[in-house]
Amino acid sequence: MQWQKDIDLTHKNSFGFPAIADHFAEVDQIEDLESVLDSVEKNGWPLLILGGGSNLVLREKIPGAVLSVATQGLNILADNEHTAIIEVGAGENWHGFITQLLQKGLHGLENLALIPGSVGAAPVQNIGAYGVEIADCFHSLTAYDRINKELVQLGKDECQFGYRDSLFKSDAKGRYIIWTVRFSLSTVFTPKIGYKGISDHLDALGIVEPSAYQVYQAVCDIRMGKLPLPTELGNAGSFFENPIVTESTYQRLKAQFPDIVAYPDKAGHFKLAAGWLIDRAGWKGCRVGEVGVYDKQALVLVNYGQGLATDLLKLAEDISLSVKNQFDVKLKIEPRIYPE
Ligand SMILES: Cc1cc2nc3c(=O)[nH]c(=O)nc-3n(C[C@H](O)[C@H](O)[C@H](O)COP(=O)(O)OP(=O)(O)OC[C@H]3O[C@@H](n4cnc5c(N)ncnc54)[C@H](O)[C@@H]3O)c2cc1C
Repeated sequence: MQWQKDIDLTHKNSFGFPAIADHFAEVDQIEDLESVLDSVEKNGWPLLILGGGSNLVLREKIPGAVLSVATQGLNILADNEHTAIIEVGAGENWHGFITQLLQKGLHGLENLALIPGSVGAAPVQNIGAYGVEIADCFHSLTAYDRINKELVQLGKDECQFGYRDSLFKSDAKGRYIIWTVRFSLSTVFTPKIGYKGISDHLDALGIVEPSAYQVYQAVCDIRMGKLPLPTELGNAGSFFENPIVTESTYQRLKAQFPDIVAYPDKAGHFKLAAGWLIDRAGWKGCRVGEVGVYDKQALVLVNYGQGLATDLLKLAEDISLSVKNQFDVKLKIEPRIYPE
């Protein structure tokens, strides 16, 4: 297995930030993975696993090695009248996978259509949208454990999924390389349309009992209307997580800002809409040089073309500070900044 040297990652990250990787390799065989990891270890290189680059803020120089997992394929491992367990390669495109499930009549992940990136990265931050997250249908995954140097199977509990969080982002950051992912899906479609954006969209179309395809299409239409296409305007989707606050904090804010947008969560806390906070702090549509805040959705920070990670991180810092000053709420950046 040969490393490619000085590889330009500008078109491999959805912000389109210029970044040069010292060493780059793509693998889809375990033997090749073991061989590249061996040289990473021998050289003492830092290692970045790169999927579609849609949840990363890359700085200009990427030292050490960058590895892309290219495992492909979708297999049904078991099925019966009601459910099917399917296994999919980490290198598959997420939206392509969701579309294939729809064609196979396997349900549960329709609300996650059109999220950019790879299947392998989806468990890393337990991707979610429109009231669904992958933990809802997750079965298990196979990953390469860099400490014990072997393939391991991790079940749902072991992955420690939380809101935009998992074992792979916290306790075991950098330890596992996700190789295949398994989902438990339903052969019977039950629409999950409680999320206001979807129900409003379907109501406007006069659809009362939507099919799986109609929910999938509604999600695609809503997303295309409010999120910029990374090929046209660099971005990583939501730049900040929605802050989770206690009921008393929520009540304090509600008294001060009656139109604040928030959703109760299962644990009795409230998830504040970070986009609303940023918008109310006056940032929506602001441009600072080559970076800015998207004019249709304040949660999305954008690169107009010539921006750098440092410009964006400075803007993010200014936004966080003004939200803190105005609401006494702390914002947390969602994408991974690399090198940290
Ligand atoms: C327009 C837009 C909309 C978005 N909407 C949403 C949304 O609705 N909901 C949501 O949750 N996210 C959303 N995102 C964020 C992003 O698409 C997801 O987080 C996605 O899962 C990232 O996939 P990726 O392959 O691009 O990962 P990358 O950005 O390449 O990597 C993300 C992280 O995963 C790690 N990683 C990648 N592959 C592997 C692997 N095989 N094994 C171990 N670690 C790995 C990387 O090291 C990195 O830490 C959006 C992004 C954009 C640009």
